[in-house]
Amino acid sequence: MKTAKDYASDVKPTWCPGCGHFSVLRAIQSAAGKLNIENHNLAVVSGIGCSGRISGYVDAYGVHSIHGRSLPLAQGIKMVNPDLTVIAAGGDGDGFAIGTNHTVHAMKRNVDMTYIVLNNQIYGLTKGHTSPISKKGFVTKSTPMGNVEEPLKPGLMALAAGATYIAQGTSGNQKQLIDIIVKGIEHKGFSFINVYSPCVTFNKINTYEWYKKNLINLDESENHNIYDFKEAMNRYIECDGLFTGILYENKEKEEYKAILEGVKESTVESKLDIKEDFHDLIS
Ligand code: SF4
Ligand code: MG
Repeated sequence: MKTAKDYASDVKPTWCPGCGHFSVLRAIQSAAGKLNIENHNLAVVSGIGCSGRISGYVDAYGVHSIHGRSLPLAQGIKMVNPDLTVIAAGGDGDGFAIGTNHTVHAMKRNVDMTYIVLNNQIYGLTKGHTSPISKKGFVTKSTPMGNVEEPLKPGLMALAAGATYIAQGTSGNQKQLIDIIVKGIEHKGFSFINVYSPCVTFNKINTYEWYKKNLINLDESENHNIYDFKEAMNRYIECDGLFTGILYENKEKEEYKAILEGVKESTVESKLDIKEDFHDLIS
């Protein structure tokens, strides 16, 4: 059995001490170890931002891609090499601002891969300004009078867009985070994992302590049925997205490659039919 250290690259992380992203990195490495994935069968594709560095810290194939564009690359990699385990990772700005269109369409498309958002509710790399997930009233250098917009709700967006595995974790609970990443990788389809990962340098509101106090752990809720779409919607609204655990899983929706293979087969068959009809006509 492999362990997290088998997936540590030679590159030393340059994140600020205490940054939540260390925990997410370790959780990805531990999950890969639990699933015994060979390093050459793993690909990590990241976007731009502090979180974007993560692809360089995992000993696997990696692409540190363009801002908001990790998902098109990751889906392409999976489509041409289905044997790879593909993980895309990026920040909340990357996935829910510049890359939102790709996020929504990847959820709708259902390629068999895992998308992990390291969500710190701020832009860290550019020294702290509001992201699409920052709360209304959030004060930063770019919004000194407070953010005037309501935050986006990624889990509701994922449900509406058709993601087939939706979970949330937090850097402060690595055990649960490893578990939901393992299950996300095992899920046959597009897995969306939103991780509350504190930016200790620029976000002084959404801290480890804040998340500990405010996040509800769905694993402790006996009656949450992860296969019930309406219940998932209601659960998300009830706690305003402040939860950890698996919100929803859909095992019925066909994975994208299987759909394409079906189309290919039926096209070949219909071409054969046309050929036969033509043959009957002229003979
Ligand atoms: Fe982490 Fe924030 Fe530092 Fe970026 S700025 S490395 S997100 S603590
Ligand atoms: Mg961010």
